[in-house]
Amino acid sequence: MSDMADHDNSGGNDDDALPPAFHSIDSFTGNFQEEAALAHRPCPVCRGDWGLAVTGFKDFQFFSDDAHAAKRADIRTVRCAGCHALYMNPCYTPHGFATLFREAGMSYGASGMRYEEQTAWLQSRNLLRPGMRLMDIGCYEGAFIRTLPEEIATIGVDIDAGAIDRAREAFPQPDRQFVCGDFTDFTFEGTVDIMTMFHVLEHLPDPRRVLARLRLHANADTRLVIEVPVLEHGITNDINGFFSVQHLTHFSKTSLAHMLAAEGWAILEAGMQKGYNGYRVLAAPAGDIDIPAPDAGDIARLQHYLSGWYGAVADICRRLDHSSIARHCVIWGGGLHTEFLYQLTPLFFGNRARRFLIVDSDPLKQGASWRGIPIAAPAEILPHLDWQETSLIVSSYGNQQAIADAALELGVCKEKIILLYEHIDRY
Ligand SMILES: [Zn+2]
Repeated sequence: MSDMADHDNSGGNDDDALPPAFHSIDSFTGNFQEEAALAHRPCPVCRGDWGLAVTGFKDFQFFSDDAHAAKRADIRTVRCAGCHALYMNPCYTPHGFATLFREAGMSYGASGMRYEEQTAWLQSRNLLRPGMRLMDIGCYEGAFIRTLPEEIATIGVDIDAGAIDRAREAFPQPDRQFVCGDFTDFTFEGTVDIMTMFHVLEHLPDPRRVLARLRLHANADTRLVIEVPVLEHGITNDINGFFSVQHLTHFSKTSLAHMLAAEGWAILEAGMQKGYNGYRVLAAPAGDIDIPAPDAGDIARLQHYLSGWYGAVADICRRLDHSSIARHCVIWGGGLHTEFLYQLTPLFFGNRARRFLIVDSDPLKQGASWRGIPIAAPAEILPHLDWQETSLIVSSYGNQQAIADAALELGVCKEKIILLYEHIDRY
């Protein structure tokens, strides 16, 4: 940030001896919240309004420092006392989402390059017959559509205008249509035979309205394929956890079934995917469907999940505690994982004399700062540091090993690299 210089040396009186790039935590004070970023909402599953607080973060910062745009918000996960559904409340407004996630890259988390498998799954159920019309909701740049047979006409829908422009350029064929719009009110002519939503529903502020909208474009034989992560498989040792700040509804198998039934979708088939947290459901439009009763087991599952998550947080705190972190600390990773370290561990507060520097290989983050700590390119900084009095903390879950390898290559000695996770599970 251009105004970083204003905040140099604010953290202590012995900073003259430090390399200039190291800063104390929260040495930039211009960050702020705005009311318009969040809005109260009823339970996205049953529409009731009895949310009981489960977890929360105060002043959670979304990416880099900014004195002109509100990059912070109080995040709260609640449990509906009526149906046991778990959801974020208040929830991001469209304006809030656009501001807070501006630096997040893709509008929705990639479903992990599983497109070939998803297409094969549809084919194995005879759902990709020549002449059919498929609609992919949350298509982004059309990576899934690319894997579909040519005889299938497609409509891709996404709210990200840039992604839709790139998709239109990549797929000039007339039967490859792309619509830019909100999933609750986009329009096009006619009905479709197959609708797919892979890891999208959990990101939407009003998923029921989207399911109702899809019902309008369904004919009697339409099939809807939805995949979401579920509480039943939410256990992870990643401190980001199942209650990701990118997810607005944290489904269980029952709360997903409840929502589908309430909007006239009957489940024909449902099952977990192998090797990651993906619960895939095949549904069809139907008349009156019995809404499943709330599952009290979801309360026990929540307790089990939270116990695992607090265990993961405790493991990281222990590792930070037992590592002899030098007074100069480089953190590799300027994303949300580092904000979780700030929110959940004593890393930044255990030793007030500690000074920090962040490196990140994302060029969009380089030159910015997070909570007053400058973010630089790894190759620009790491080879030039005095590692006698410096530690490197790898702040990433999925990329932990790749980062450690890259640090070694840039000349950091192995014993100065602190890994936070014993093992990494794909989820
Ligand atoms: Zn509810």
